[in-house]
Amino acid sequence: MATATLTAGDKKLNVSATKLLINNEWVNAESGKTFETINPATGDVICQVAESDAADVKKAVKAARAAFDSGSKWRKMPASKRGALINRLADLIEQNADELARLESLDNGKPYAVAKAADLPLTVACYRYYAGWTDKIHGKTIPINGPYFCYTRHEPVGVCGQIIPWNFPLLMQAWKLGPALAAGCTIILKPAEQTPLTALRVGELIVEAGFPPGVVNILPGYGPTAGAAIANHVDVDKVAFTGSTEVGKLIMEAAARSNLKRVTLELGGKSPNIVFADADMDQAIEGAHFALFFNQGQCCCAGSRLYVEERCYDEFVEKSVARAKKRTVGDPFDPKTEQGPQVDKDQFTKVMGYIEAGKQEGAKLLAGGKRWGDRGFFVEPTVFADVNEEMKIGQEEIFGPVMSIIKFKSLDEVVERANRNMYGLAAAVWTRDITKAHAIANGVRAGTVWVNCYDVFDAAAPFGGFKQSGIGRELGEYGLANYTEVKTVTVKL
Ligand code: NAP
Ligand code: MG
Repeated sequence: MATATLTAGDKKLNVSATKLLINNEWVNAESGKTFETINPATGDVICQVAESDAADVKKAVKAARAAFDSGSKWRKMPASKRGALINRLADLIEQNADELARLESLDNGKPYAVAKAADLPLTVACYRYYAGWTDKIHGKTIPINGPYFCYTRHEPVGVCGQIIPWNFPLLMQAWKLGPALAAGCTIILKPAEQTPLTALRVGELIVEAGFPPGVVNILPGYGPTAGAAIANHVDVDKVAFTGSTEVGKLIMEAAARSNLKRVTLELGGKSPNIVFADADMDQAIEGAHFALFFNQGQCCCAGSRLYVEERCYDEFVEKSVARAKKRTVGDPFDPKTEQGPQVDKDQFTKVMGYIEAGKQEGAKLLAGGKRWGDRGFFVEPTVFADVNEEMKIGQEEIFGPVMSIIKFKSLDEVVERANRNMYGLAAAVWTRDITKAHAIANGVRAGTVWVNCYDVFDAAAPFGGFKQSGIGRELGEYGLANYTEVKTVTVKL
């Protein structure tokens, strides 16, 4: 695998990290296999990347276990030093932010300007947030009966397998590595097959920052081989996964059958975004547009069931259609571009299939509906009105730029309908009435509720799903708790 030189907008990029990172060394896969990573804006191959499988997972777990063993450099390191290392990594990501944003855009298709303005700062903030936690992870002293001194220690859970998706490659890596490193765990991380390049570049920065060998191992490869090997490995203490609910279930099953490793899952969604007629209409229209179309519609928390009160329905639909028709699609490196391609051909085909289903089931297609351009995997910003929960597009996660607008009459009705879905990741409400806002916030079964805003993320605020949207929370103090085990120590006095 030679180093590739690529054109990324108005700059050249050197891609050097294309192998597996095991024990701070860049190695080929045991099998010698490689796979292509594709630029979804053109369909062209960017470069070849080493393809790990079970044999490489075995090697990486051995390295991670050795790095975790008591007496290792990592385990003996003072907590504050661990924090300094994570901050050093954040510094390096910040120093290389432009290069990383370009690479993210090339491999994923998201607009470069968005990667630079959103993904990179959020990634850096996540590492810095968890860097601050390292020396603040403490237990309690507990007044039990008898002449005893009882206390708890919050110890790192151990060797963690982390399997991440392609929609926010750098950010999902930070959400996983940040808390695991803060807690003192060691890691085997598998990036998504569609987007391995920024995860590997961060691997170079991890080595440069000075993390001891074996603490972070990065294994690009496919889910059913490398991913499954991580979920099934008996010497992995915890697996954290973000992706589809379908694969989440496989991960949990593998964890149960192998060694009961701890499981946290961040899965899909079909999040209700509820607009009352008393809302600031312009804000609600722009907010709903952003909630659905951001990141090419490839967000687990996308506002993909847009409930609009009957009294403002016609106006809202008309203006939302006009806004969608104005959305600029095209070259991710053009600063005017709001929407790039879907991540790959499979996702493109899946989204087009949902558009077809919407038409067949009688939803009213008012914007888009077709492929955009003649190369790459672009989909026109698409709006369906008169959708209901019985339709496929009103029920299943589309993960693309397809807005589904649903009419409702009353508050009680909309709460019931919002909850009529297997997912429970996020929800939002747009209203000037504080009573309605709280009724929705309390009534909707979802891990996050936004009021008069959408997609507001902060490393300090937990995120995760009710129901089949997942298990556990990421970010904040809650996210950290998933990387520790509580040990109770009792001493006779
Ligand atoms: P996916 O298969 O769930 O992929 C997520 C990650 O899991 C990838 O790293 C994937 O590897 C890995 N994986 C796949 N099968 C596995 C297995 N048997 N054992 C262990 N790991 C495995 O998602 P997808 O196929 O890319 O997308 C399908 C749908 O999932 C999307 O349309 C969307 O609805 C949903 N999705 C949700 C999120 C989210 O943020 N919650 C993110 C992405 C996708 P590969 O790279 O080889 O696939
Ligand atoms: Mg790619």
